[in-house]
Amino acid sequence: MMEFCDKCGSLMLVEKKRTRTILVCKRCGRTKVLKGKITVTETMPSEKKEVVVMKREEAEELPRTKIICPRCEYNEAFWWMQQTRGADEPPTLFYRCCKCGYSWRSYG
Ligand SMILES: [Zn+2]
Ligand SMILES: [Zn+2]
Repeated sequence: MMEFCDKCGSLMLVEKKRTRTILVCKRCGRTKVLKGKITVTETMPSEKKEVVVMKREEAEELPRTKIICPRCEYNEAFWWMQQTRGADEPPTLFYRCCKCGYSWRSYG
């Protein structure tokens, strides 16, 4: 993954903190917190397996269910509940297709 500093334009380096991964500009010191889809490649010098690829996708943290996508007809989707109206209304159930990313809400 290539990220450039929005202040000075230098290539930013990935640094792993205990709780999160951040990008640091070695030139001006600017930092950025990584969010959503990231791919980190790091070198572990003491082991034979030198390259470790980490992948994190925000969507993968959501539970999945078997449901047909109305757009591509794939049979699995992520789901989550969201409060869309007043607090006294029940939350709405949303789905997002695992294949094409199409999102829709459940009626009824
Ligand atoms: Zn910079
Ligand atoms: Zn789909």
